[in-house]
Amino acid sequence: MSIFHHFINGEWIASDKTRLNINPSNPDEVIGEYAEASVQDMESAVVAAAEAAKVWSSSTPQQRFEVLDFIGTEILARKQELGLLLAREEGKVLPEAVGEVTRAGFIFKFFAGEALRIGGQAIASVRPNMEVLTSREAVGVVGLITPWNFPIAIPAWKTAPALACGNAVVLKPSELTPGCAWALAEIISRSGLPKGVFNLVMGDGVAGKTLVEHRAVDAISFTGSTQTGKLIAQHCALNLKKYQLEMGGKNPLVILDDADLSVAVECAVNGAFYSTGQRCTASSRTIVTEHIYDSFRDAMLKRTQALKVGAAVESTTQIGPVVDQRQLDKNLHYIQIGKDEGGALLTGGERLAGSGYFFSPAIIENHNPQARLNQEEVFGPVSTLVKVKNFEEAMTVANATPYGLSGGICTTSLKYASQFRREMQAGMVMVNAPTAGVDYHVPFGGTKASSFGPREQGGMALEFYTKVKTHYLA
Ligand code: NAD
Repeated sequence: MSIFHHFINGEWIASDKTRLNINPSNPDEVIGEYAEASVQDMESAVVAAAEAAKVWSSSTPQQRFEVLDFIGTEILARKQELGLLLAREEGKVLPEAVGEVTRAGFIFKFFAGEALRIGGQAIASVRPNMEVLTSREAVGVVGLITPWNFPIAIPAWKTAPALACGNAVVLKPSELTPGCAWALAEIISRSGLPKGVFNLVMGDGVAGKTLVEHRAVDAISFTGSTQTGKLIAQHCALNLKKYQLEMGGKNPLVILDDADLSVAVECAVNGAFYSTGQRCTASSRTIVTEHIYDSFRDAMLKRTQALKVGAAVESTTQIGPVVDQRQLDKNLHYIQIGKDEGGALLTGGERLAGSGYFFSPAIIENHNPQARLNQEEVFGPVSTLVKVKNFEEAMTVANATPYGLSGGICTTSLKYASQFRREMQAGMVMVNAPTAGVDYHVPFGGTKASSFGPREQGGMALEFYTKVKTHYLA
């Protein structure tokens, strides 16, 4: 079996410990054995990055463009092969997996261009004979900590802007899906980047904690659960490190009486169940006004029951497996909670036959917005149905969680669509579109317990990966 090493200071470094990367469609299939970081591995990576940051921070925009463009080009050229790897290690169905890889390639292309566009301002001084300029400088060593559900797109959307802005990187991907991050590191290793500027150190939360707490790390960009995010925030706040957190969601999709029924059902099923519901932007609450409720529920039920759950690489599969046994147990646990608190399980919520972690998409009817299933993130293909009287009540329920990542509405009313966009407490709002599925070149992120710090992606990503200097010239 292949053993995949860390990439530290331009070299492939073995670790004493390794972890098996398992295919959730078939847990007997081992994708590879991946290095598991020791404290010393992380130390070496951060020290190398700190040295390399001095060099890369003074690289030219053209050098940065060429490196990022090379990486993007190769990712795009290998999207089928990398998509297959992603489908095998994470369980996303092949078309979605190839789509994610394509997105990662375009992200590198986008930030190749951004590297050329980083600029400052010239602002008229309030004083005579004084010139005022602003410039952006690299932050230094940035630690990137990523989850398993977008194993190439999220490493890409952190690494690309970090490098474009002249930072050195230590990437710590999720222990469940190191394969895509390793493939990305392998491409980066041939991109012409000076040694030490990009380092890959694999491992679990202990490795992540070691990275966060290393004295030479200047900034942490984290995506994962709100629980882990809060721990990282505590350390960074106490030690005055820059940090950015993208965390959980409990995203609502509101269906109004005047919605186009087929659009509404498509948005609800796609948003709740595609990617096995394992998207931070998944719509896990479908909030429906009373006159359309029955016809919508019947249509959503029919469409959900027709979904084909199976192995990620099978061409007929629409919903792949859950990522691992732990997440499967969590889904089942929440189905029980849903029943215990009085919800009606309309369909799904069961472990399906087969050796993979297959779970049938579940719809639970529970009209109490304070029910746990309407408040807590499951992170699986589980959606609640909540009946409300009218738009005003839908809006109140939509906003009644601690989270605020994404929110959607299906309506043919311009008035309600506009009001929803204004009043939804979320970083992203969708009209007649699923709550999940976003462009790669625009800001991404949420509010409340879903996000903290400057936005990721698009031109706004530069806010986090640079610091501003103001220059006075008399
Ligand atoms: P997680 O918080 O368990 O792990 C995320 C990463 O943090 C992993 O690499 C993990 O090893 C590391 N980690 C764990 N403990 C740590 C610690 N104490 N210090 C430092 N690092 C630590 O999350 P997960 O299960 O991998 O991902 C699922 C979560 O991610 C869901 O809540 C989902 O909503 C969220 N998510 C959010 C976004 C977003 O952009 N808002 C995108 C994708 C996923």
